[in-house]
Amino acid sequence: MMKILLTTTSYQDTPGKHHELLEAQGYEIVRQRGPLSEEQMLELAGDFDAFLCGDDAITAKVIEKSLPKLRLISKYGIGLDKVDVECATANKIPVTFCPGVNHTTVAEHTFALLLAICRNLCEEVNHTRKGEWTRLTGNEIMGKKLSVIGFGRIGKEVAVRAKAFQMEVKAYDPYWDDEFANTHQIERASSLEDALQGSDVLSLHLNLSESTYNLINEESLGLVKDGAILLNCARGELVDTQAMVKALESGKLKGYGSDVLDQEPPPPDHPLLHAPGALITPHIGSRTYESVVRQATMATQNLVNVLNGEPALAQANELPTD
Ligand code: NAD
Repeated sequence: MMKILLTTTSYQDTPGKHHELLEAQGYEIVRQRGPLSEEQMLELAGDFDAFLCGDDAITAKVIEKSLPKLRLISKYGIGLDKVDVECATANKIPVTFCPGVNHTTVAEHTFALLLAICRNLCEEVNHTRKGEWTRLTGNEIMGKKLSVIGFGRIGKEVAVRAKAFQMEVKAYDPYWDDEFANTHQIERASSLEDALQGSDVLSLHLNLSESTYNLINEESLGLVKDGAILLNCARGELVDTQAMVKALESGKLKGYGSDVLDQEPPPPDHPLLHAPGALITPHIGSRTYESVVRQATMATQNLVNVLNGEPALAQANELPTD
């Protein structure tokens, strides 16, 4: 009987057809509450035919300890930054993932953060809950300039929604989808610097890699318009935490709406949890009943296909043939 390690909590906690699909296979399922650290993964590794994982640390050490039994890493979600894909590829382990199932949900969450900051939503709800009627003045987003950094699936959905709010939108991505940009009248930023300058709102939707780690740092924040709002529904490590805290404390930035942090879950004294103008949600951008079922079904189907010797719906790596 094949043995699967299932770590994603939203998969486990959300009802839907993915449970039936998984159970119908007759695998032995070991359930853990991720995301698991490298240390926790190393304790478990070696005994599984496949991982059905979220943002657990699937490092080279974990992959090597999982051999020769491991046949597949099925990532629930799109970001592969916690999986050592290079090591998996070298060991002929397919890494599958779930593009195209959570982009609308994450885009909606981006606007939840933006509107909450602009309308002082959290402070005001805290006031009314205490019986206070403190009427703070907010800002509208119509007519404001938005820079979308990373114009992939989620970035495009954010851009489309921003146009519906009558924002002026420009985007930056080294890979440019001319047709989409023309259809939705999105201006192309010529460089990252161009995207950073002059906008009232910046929204990060690029993937985390060695080259994008701490892309938002003291220097790049220096280019941003005073009083701008930065949104991050991508990855915490794209932003230098200390530089962000400094920008919020000095008033350089009005707000940081982020669904992600460089440490998840964060320690209670993580500086961004308490910085002025920081609105942090616990990585729930793709966590809606609708999106979780789509994502979990795709991750399960990827698993079933590969373990049955069929092609995955989406595979992130090309395996060496020799
Ligand atoms: P995607 O691959 O469709 O888009 C990412 C885009 O970023 C690509 O078009 C790529 O060319 C671009 N990019 C890469 N490096 C860049 C750079 N230096 N400057 C500008 N653009 C750059 O991925 P997606 O589905 O849109 O997801 C984007 C990211 O969002 C994921 O990598 C993941 O980290 C994150 N994500 C977060 C959640 C959440 O729950 N908060 C959910 C899903 C995805």
